[in-house]
Amino acid sequence: VEAQNLRRVYQRGENSVVAVDSATFAITSGARIALMGPSGSGKSTLLYLMGGLDTPTSGKIAWTALGDRKSLRPQKIAFVFQMPSLLAPLNVVENVALPLLLGNIEPYVARKAAMEVLERIGLSAIADKMPEELSGGQAQRVAVARALVYRPRLILADEPTGQLDRSTAKLLLDVLLATLEGTDTALVVATHDRAVAERLDSLWYVRHGNLLTSSNKQLALGN
Ligand code: ADP
Ligand code: ADP
Repeated sequence: VEAQNLRRVYQRGENSVVAVDSATFAITSGARIALMGPSGSGKSTLLYLMGGLDTPTSGKIAWTALGDRKSLRPQKIAFVFQMPSLLAPLNVVENVALPLLLGNIEPYVARKAAMEVLERIGLSAIADKMPEELSGGQAQRVAVARALVYRPRLILADEPTGQLDRSTAKLLLDVLLATLEGTDTALVVATHDRAVAERLDSLWYVRHGNLLTSSNKQLALGN
């Protein structure tokens, strides 16, 4: 994903808020990027722009490896949000299979693929449970499984560990990084948690809508 001078201005009545200002960046295959910055600095807006869920007010963004914006298939980019957003009437394996079913994959193939992902991340024992029966950490791992099931090229995660305690947060990241290891799927994680940021390869910092990209984590964390 390549972006030049992205700007996103929200209009609220008479007022306008510059959520992202002149952001220039490239997300390369296999990147592992932490996006840090205070609340309201523009991290979520940046993730939405990166995923094509939102359009910039000005500037350019291109998904060179994924096709143009119109052909951007949702299956190529997966989102993980702070709240796991599972569908309550569906059990765990059905929730994980959902992106495949929406992509017109046959139900038995979708179910098999969903079971494989659940096994890989150690959740096969809860495949038949309903979302309301899960702990917060389990529900968030199911949301990660759902993001992984289509083997997306890019995963965008917005505070995925924000509601989890330290050890559950660590487990979630273990699962995500282990599953992506050796693949060229890129990962961008917006997070307040330094323990999360330190396990990724690059640290990008946002302040008042301005993005500072750096591949030198030590330098950036030291500032
Ligand atoms: P972060 O994810 O870092 O907390 P956001 O991208 O959510 O930051 O927000 C950046 C700025 O844009 C904030 O000032 C926020 O209030 C504003 N903002 C975000 N979404 C909207 C919206 N839909 N309408 C108006 N202002 C918004
Ligand atoms: P392409 O980018 O060439 O379309 P994809 O990997 O997106 O390649 O998909 C190739 C085919 O495999 C498609 O028919 C898609 O629906 C299917 N597919 C993709 N991921 C899975 C999966 N996890 N399980 C089963 N089928 C899948």
